[in-house]
Amino acid sequence: MKYCFGIDIGGTTVKMGLFQEDGELLDKWEIKTRTENQGEAILPDIAQAVKAKMAEKKLVKEQIIGLGMGLPAPVTEDGIVQNTANLGWGYKEVTRELEELLDGMKVIPGNDANVAALGEMWKGGGKGHKNVIMVTLGTGVGGGIIVDGKIVAGAHGAGGEVGHACVEPEEEAVCNCGNHGCLEQMTSATGIVRLAKKYLASHDTPSSLRERGESISAKAVFDALKEGDAAAEAIVQEFSEYLGRALAVFACVVDPEVIVVGGGVSKAGQILIDGVAKYYREAAFIACKDTPIVLASLGNDAGIYGAAKMLID
Ligand code: ZN
Repeated sequence: MKYCFGIDIGGTTVKMGLFQEDGELLDKWEIKTRTENQGEAILPDIAQAVKAKMAEKKLVKEQIIGLGMGLPAPVTEDGIVQNTANLGWGYKEVTRELEELLDGMKVIPGNDANVAALGEMWKGGGKGHKNVIMVTLGTGVGGGIIVDGKIVAGAHGAGGEVGHACVEPEEEAVCNCGNHGCLEQMTSATGIVRLAKKYLASHDTPSSLRERGESISAKAVFDALKEGDAAAEAIVQEFSEYLGRALAVFACVVDPEVIVVGGGVSKAGQILIDGVAKYYREAAFIACKDTPIVLASLGNDAGIYGAAKMLID
């Protein structure tokens, strides 16, 4: 039996997993992401944690296929990142540096959202499929496109950045990326709050959400929807139209077997999927109309599974 490591580098923790080559997760743990001093300790900390785990499990280098890692930035195939602000990194040759620290162990890098999509294809909501679109609704909107079992990373490592597809050219507010009217501005957790505040300010509909004032959240909107709140219904309808129609456009490009929706916002559950699916099916090209839209199922572990999968064929 051979083994590999799947790791997911985030701004506060690095999630790590030790897998068997048959895909079984043997152990998972976390270390702190030390971002101070331009994040110079991050890769050495990872290398040390990997070596410690190998010693603990009595594994030798020859038994390890390699290490896959998801990074919170666009990354090229050979592991170069240009500017990863939340890790403190500027230009960095991540693969080369980590391979050196691990005495030549094979390292495969990927963008974290893409890697999570691969994980969901392998062991999560997209299990059993090879052509998957995943969209992650969190503070922002990320995504990953898997075609024939492989991540579509693109020329700049920015493949699958579905959150910055323009869905509202008339929008005047500026997105984090500098453009206007991105999907992320409408369907992220913060985007839903924005839609909600706009709706409540421009309508008289009575709503339990009004009592929340500034503390309104995406979760509160979906909770109110489940209580039958009319304003929440209108807000979620707007969210569902943006996301459903955008997914229909992406489906025209990829023709996926399944569309997976993950991230914190997706904890709203099936009621979210049902709303999005309605607008998706209205807008989708005939061949893709029946494509299932499902919830992600691996939660925070999607990244380590996907990172391991990059090494296991
Ligand atoms: Zn944007």
